[in-house]
Amino acid sequence: MRIILLGPPGSGKGTQAQLLVQRYGIVQLSTGEMLRAAVAAGTPVGLKAKEIMASGGLVPDDVVVGIISDRIEQPDAKHGFILDGFPRTVPQAEALDELLKHKHMKLDAVIELRVNESALLSRVETRVAQMRERGEEVRLDDTPEVLTKRLASYRSQTEPLIHYYSERRKLSTIDGMMAIDEVTRAIHRQLLALGAVEPKTHGKTRARSAAKAAPAKKAAKRAKAARKPAKAAQKAAKPAKSAKKTVKGAKKAAKKAAKKAAKKVAKKTAKKAVKKGAKKAAKKVTKKRAKR
Ligand code: AMP
Repeated sequence: MRIILLGPPGSGKGTQAQLLVQRYGIVQLSTGEMLRAAVAAGTPVGLKAKEIMASGGLVPDDVVVGIISDRIEQPDAKHGFILDGFPRTVPQAEALDELLKHKHMKLDAVIELRVNESALLSRVETRVAQMRERGEEVRLDDTPEVLTKRLASYRSQTEPLIHYYSERRKLSTIDGMMAIDEVTRAIHRQLLALGAVEPKTHGKTRARSAAKAAPAKKAAKRAKAARKPAKAAQKAAKPAKSAKKTVKGAKKAAKKAAKKAAKKVAKKTAKKAVKKGAKKAAKKVTKKRAKR
């Protein structure tokens, strides 16, 4: 997978690039980082770039195109790369198209991180504070004055790339004001939609998040399973209730039948008694009559 991250300074390109590297196992190619390394090492490129970078200007196109051309040929870039901070001008984009064509490489997507300009200064200030806290060397161009210049360079020279790539149907714009992980998820969804990544092949992070999700999933399953027996018990309780009712009914019926039978017997006995009594009385009368 080969993608470009586009956005003004402080839009989160570097942060997202690092997260994408972890997720997809591809390399981050940041021209800013390479130039800073060259400056630190005092190479000819570094010497050329030093002043320009310190003032917030753009290093000549041929210099950065040369750096990128060499870098994408390295073995670690074979599986794909994220271009962070390159291209920055239309001529650089054209040179990249040529390069990729020549190397039979396809560009999958250009992700633009759109941010609110008023938030950029405070973002860069936060970055500076965090770097100081970690004891890292603070970038010389991360000052309010130089940032203003870098923003102006972005607007005049880099923003035309939005049109360039949207015309070539490569551009995807993402709201860079969202939380870091939300931006990552949005990028991922975009890459999925473009077919740049396959649902099953996005390694570590997905696997990690799946592992994280597993206990939650298990808990949900367990809860569902727990609910099931409860429901079943409820269901089972229903027939039990009706069985109770049936038993009650049967008892009632038996009682009724017994009462009826008892009544019948009593009636019969009474009838017999009456009959016996009558017979006795009749016998007495006959005896009396015979005496007379
Ligand atoms: P960055 O780390 O991407 O903010 O870049 C820091 C500085 O490096 C920029 O302000 C430029 O001076 C220089 N630079 C980085 N990438 C490029 C590029 N593609 N074209 C020209 N200059 C660049």
